Amino acid sequence: MGLRPNLLTRRAAGVASTTLALLLSTAAVGVVPAASAFSAAPGGACAEPADSHANARVKPGAAATHDPNELTAKQIREREADLAAALRQRANFRAGAGATTLATVTIPVVVHVIQENSTRAGGNIPDSMITSQISVLNQAYAGGTGGAATAFAFRLDKINRVTNPAWYPIVNGSSAERSMKSSLRVGGKNTLNLYLGELSDGLLGWATFPQQTLNTMDGVVALNESLPGGTATNYNQGDTGTHEVGHWLNLYHTFQGGCGGSGDSVSDTPAEASPAYECPTGRNTCSATGLDPITNFMDYTYDSCMYQFTAGQASRMLTAWNAYRAA
Ligand SMILES: [Zn+2]
Repeated sequence: MGLRPNLLTRRAAGVASTTLALLLSTAAVGVVPAASAFSAAPGGACAEPADSHANARVKPGAAATHDPNELTAKQIREREADLAAALRQRANFRAGAGATTLATVTIPVVVHVIQENSTRAGGNIPDSMITSQISVLNQAYAGGTGGAATAFAFRLDKINRVTNPAWYPIVNGSSAERSMKSSLRVGGKNTLNLYLGELSDGLLGWATFPQQTLNTMDGVVALNESLPGGTATNYNQGDTGTHEVGHWLNLYHTFQGGCGGSGDSVSDTPAEASPAYECPTGRNTCSATGLDPITNFMDYTYDSCMYQFTAGQASRMLTAWNAYRAA
């Protein structure tokens, strides 16, 4: 409960289309990339260490043959070990001050609008879509759409418009992406740099996970038309941004690890064998307790279908913030 009226409408729309969505799901199975978190692994698109800690959101049937930055089990182990090390280091650093970890965080956001030219098709989206995106983030991370409240709020500091055809579309893992971020990234580890443009391979977005040392690649890339009011049908309510920022704050996909092991390293997100697309209400792919978390922001469902983080995810994000991104 706790849904606001307009959101009730929005979410109800997702549920009402369940039958159709299920049919579409069946039809889409053949074109969905190999879904197991592990099957996409070795030799994936992550050629460089800095980029291997990234993750992407894909549309069903997208041109990409797989999720280019899905994490392997080994990468997960490394990341979890790194988090533990970062927390130990932080604890030692702050030993004299006790638990001075932050309880609430306002994240400064710098938005880089990458354009090929001055047309809408060339990436020239209006400022109003960007301010709406910030509102969506604030609502989602405050628990305003029905999920757990997290510690995070977002403050738009700047919109930076850049016309450079060499960076358009933004190609995941390319030298052009590196060049773009090297040129444009601003702020410390606490600053969210959000890059918007047309994207390669039918991707909706990708993000870097936090690292102990600030990396120039740090940030979130999202399809410009995925912002609220955009043209990306079913993915134009701004939840690509919500999802990618979740990665930036150290969340894995809900389907990470499939049905086994520690999954997404969050205890209150039921295990899920593979990504869920569209809005398959009642989906249950693992024998462990709980239906698949298809309404979680860290799955791959339609924007109208996803509306929550769990308390465990909120806790994991805050822990990671204090380990990696806090000043
Ligand atoms: Zn993702």
